[in-house]
Amino acid sequence: MKHREILAYAIRAYGEQRQIDKAVEEMAELTAALLHYRERGGSADPVREEIADVGIMLDQLTLIFGGVDPFRERKISRLRERLG
Ligand SMILES: [Mg+2]
Repeated sequence: MKHREILAYAIRAYGEQRQIDKAVEEMAELTAALLHYRERGGSADPVREEIADVGIMLDQLTLIFGGVDPFRERKISRLRERLG
């Protein structure tokens, strides 16, 4: 099974609402890992692990909500303009 198929299967198996809740939970874990790293340093592996978790959940949110690409393109364009 491909990455996208596994994620689509997870959404079907657990339901959209549960995966949205899971995304919120994983983003909170990444926030905590980043704050811990910024304030106390140490290994970056906990940050990397939470980045992976959030990435997986963002991919699922993208499948659930769709229509993300035009927003991403607009924001990247604006960033490019600001950078000159
Ligand atoms: Mg996590």
